[in-house]
Amino acid sequence: MPAPRVPVELREFPEPALEPGSVLLKTLFSEICGTDVHLWHGRLAGVPYPIIPGHVSVGVADKVRGPVRGVDGRPIADGDRLVFFDVHRTCGRCRACTVTRTPTRCEARRVYGITDPASEGLLGGWAEAIYLEPGVSIATLPASVPADTYISGGCGLITAVHIIDRAAITLGDAVLVQGVGAVGLSAIALARLGGAARVIAFGAPADRLALAREMGADRVVDITATSGEERRDIVFQETGGYGVDVAIEAAGSARAVEEALPLIRDGGRYVIAGHYTDAGPSSINFHQHVNRKHLEIRGCWGSEVGHFVRALRLLERHHATIPWHAIGARSYGLGDLNQALADAEAMRIPKALVRPTSGFSRT
Ligand SMILES: [Zn+2]
Ligand SMILES: [Zn+2]
Repeated sequence: MPAPRVPVELREFPEPALEPGSVLLKTLFSEICGTDVHLWHGRLAGVPYPIIPGHVSVGVADKVRGPVRGVDGRPIADGDRLVFFDVHRTCGRCRACTVTRTPTRCEARRVYGITDPASEGLLGGWAEAIYLEPGVSIATLPASVPADTYISGGCGLITAVHIIDRAAITLGDAVLVQGVGAVGLSAIALARLGGAARVIAFGAPADRLALAREMGADRVVDITATSGEERRDIVFQETGGYGVDVAIEAAGSARAVEEALPLIRDGGRYVIAGHYTDAGPSSINFHQHVNRKHLEIRGCWGSEVGHFVRALRLLERHHATIPWHAIGARSYGLGDLNQALADAEAMRIPKALVRPTSGFSRT
């Protein structure tokens, strides 16, 4: 991606010299998530274009300059199916890492495919190979999980694990999820696994709402076919007139925040996860909707290695019954990425997968 708002182009890079403790990965799949569309629109600050996009990816270890160990301590070998945590170089020493214990706010932190410049090499998944530098958190993909299922969950699933931690859902809760993109869809499934007794999803278009139902939503509401008042009535009707215990914002809309606050019960909780780019201010009456209601509002920024590892465990246990595979609706080769971006931008499919190489069997 040379710069925002210009077509992505194919470039050749030399094969990197492997530092001790690094791995060269042959890419099986990467993905186009909402962030990549934001990158293409130039809506993220501090991105060092040109970049090789693709943050969450899966591949096969092609060369290992060992010894390299996975996050579980086991050695990594040639031919292993590997996944890795896209956030790297979190320093472990700064104020965010040590004093406030908010490592997703570490300033040294870099992210494959987002804040790594192409001038530094193969640090993005829209490529035939990915260089996993020393220190990157690597895991073997559980044998039962297909590579395309992993990537269909992708960064939305990892983000949703963090969201559910922040949401602190308790057994029997009624939960509202705003947004049925990759993050919202996984949040629906995980809210259900986390004990929610009622999950209501707001979003569009219709095919994603159908998928939201399959992911575990009891009630889906098309925001393009209902008024705010109608949605309010639905939520109160579904919750005995009290409002939901927890709401999760995965829509990236300032209006969505304004809409949700009156729909949460007294003493409830609201997690804001969709404002990854600046969607502008929301107008909130803090007396009515926060102070008097004793409401808790929590932000959720990025994810940590633990969320990635737990996402793998959840996939291993639940991929046969929760249809993550259906989110990654279509695969695109490297020559079709401009079309893939256009399809993602127009929300024609829930998620576009990137499949750079064809010489590997789908295992
Ligand atoms: Zn740090
Ligand atoms: Zn992403």
